[in-house]
Formats: sequence, structure tokens, C-alpha cells
Amino acid sequence: RAKDEGKDRLAFYEPGLQEALRREMALVEALREALAGDQGELTLFYQPIVDLTTGAPVALEALIRWPKASPGEFIPLAERHRLMPELGAWVLRRACREQARHGLPVHVNVSPQELLHPGYPGLVAQVLEETGCPPRALVLEVTETALIPDERGRDATLTVRILRELGVRVFLDDFGSGYSSLERLAALPVDGLKLGQAFTQALGNPPDPQSPAARLVAAVLALAQALGLAAVAEGIEGEATLAYLRRLGFTLGQGFLFGRPAPLGV
Ligand code: C2E
Ligand code: MG
Ligand code: MG
Ligand code: MG
Repeated sequence: RAKDEGKDRLAFYEPGLQEALRREMALVEALREALAGDQGELTLFYQPIVDLTTGAPVALEALIRWPKASPGEFIPLAERHRLMPELGAWVLRRACREQARHGLPVHVNVSPQELLHPGYPGLVAQVLEETGCPPRALVLEVTETALIPDERGRDATLTVRILRELGVRVFLDDFGSGYSSLERLAALPVDGLKLGQAFTQALGNPPDPQSPAARLVAAVLALAQALGLAAVAEGIEGEATLAYLRRLGFTLGQGFLFGRPAPLGV
């Protein structure tokens, strides 16, 4: 009986599943071709990270763009199909090459798969040398998941130490959405953290200082300050949120209020 029901359910979902699978395989194939050809299908957009008191950009975050899908869809897909090392190398090389055009430090997102690859620090050293990008002008954004040991005890903490010895800075992206314990965070060899936009948005509009989200955001800032880390608030969309984050003591931020991701001007 139960088995039959299970079978029915499977039959019911099959067409959708098949369609999703077909789209995934088509996208993977197209992505492979885009990488191999490098005919300009893949590009980088940049979004400013600003000084919250002046609004002046202090750095740019590189965000990949592809006409066929959003990064939210194709980055996880590239991870599943082991394309991430290649795609990540493309992003790193392009971002470091373009750094001279804007002259600001550039933030590059690094997926766990790239960071856990033994050749990663070597790749970074090579790209810095080949592009002439100064190590201090490169900031790698990593996620907490890559810095937490997996079942086999593997984590990227050592890689992060090596990268910082090269002079590159490392920030934790989307801080608060992972599982770092306080103890773990204190031991993590990073330069800064980015408060995930989920938190910024949970403050409400206008922000409610009594809300649990507000207390949490204040606590994250205090933690960053206690550890001597830079703190960037992501996802700032409105003036009220900006005013509130400034009052809390945030000095760096990013969001649609200051600028959407856009191609590098000439
Ligand atoms: P992320 O690194 O946390 O990047 C911030 C995302 O939030 C970007 O989405 C950006 O466009 C968006 N955003 C910025 N300001 C605001 C705002 O005020 N409001 C809202 N609602 N959103 C805002 P995007 O470009 O779609 O990228 C999504 C995610 O995909 C990134 O999150 C990052 O995890 C990943 N990603 C993007 N480019 C790359 C890349 O080159 N390599 C890797 N490994 N991952 C990437
Ligand atoms: Mg990021
Ligand atoms: Mg982020
Ligand atoms: Mg993200």
C-alpha cells in the first residue's frame, strides 16, 4: 500500500523532475562552452562597498553575470558538476586584470570547492603575478561553510593562512547564515566579515531597535569590533536602514541604495 503510494507520488513528480534535469544538463553544457570559448558571454559586474559616512566607494565587489541564468542558479550548478574551479579561475583572472582600470581593492567571491582545492593558493599567486594586481588590492570573500571541518576533518583554514601570507585579505561572506561557533570565529584567520543581507532586511523598514534582529545585528558588530575585524553591512536599500546601521556603529556598507552591480565604466 505505502509502496504503491510512493510509486504514484514519483510518477506524479516525474515530468517536472525530468524537465529540471534537462535544463540543468543544457545549462552545464552551455557553461562549459562559454568557458572554453570565452567569447564575452561571461562578464563581471561590480558593486561598490562604501564608507557609510561619506558614501564614497572604498572597494568594489565583482559579481559574475551570464545571460542564460542568474548566479544563484548557475553557481551551485557549476559546483555540482565540478566546473567551479575553472569558473572561479576565470573570475579571479578577470577581476585582477580589471583592477588596474578602477584602482580600488576588488572583492572576489570564492566557493568552498575552489578554496578546498589544494592548488588554490598557487593559482592566486600566479594570477597576481601575471596581472600585476597588488596582493593588498585583492579581497577574497569566503563562506563559513568552507572554514568548518567536514566529516573527514578537512577545512580551508590552512589555505586561508597561506593566502594571507601572500598579502591577500580574506572576508567571511553572508556572516550569520552559517554555523560558526563563537570560539571558532575567534580562531578564524580572517580580516573582516560581511553581515548577510538577510539580517539587514530583517531589521524591518523602518528598523525596529527592539526587534530580535536588531539585537543580533548589534551583537555581530560588537563581535567584529572585539576581534578587530572590518564589518560590512550588506543589502542596504533605504535611508532609514542606513541611518540605523550608522547609529549602531557600522562604517562600511553595500546595497542598492549606493549602487547596483553594473559593468565597469570606461
Ligand atoms: P553575495 O556574494 O552575497 O553577493 C551579494 C548579492 O546581493 C548579489 O547578488 C548582489 O547583486 C545582491 N545585492 C547587493 N545589494 C543588494 C541590495 O541592496 N538588496 C538586494 N536584495 N540584493 C542586493 P548576485 O550578483 O545575484 O549574486 C548572488 C550570489 O551568487 C552572491 O552572493 C555569491 O554568493 C554568488 N556569486 C556571484 N558572483 C560570483 C562569483 O563570481 N563567484 C562565486 N563563487 N560566487 C558568486
Ligand atoms: Mg560576496
Ligand atoms: Mg554576501
Ligand atoms: Mg551570498
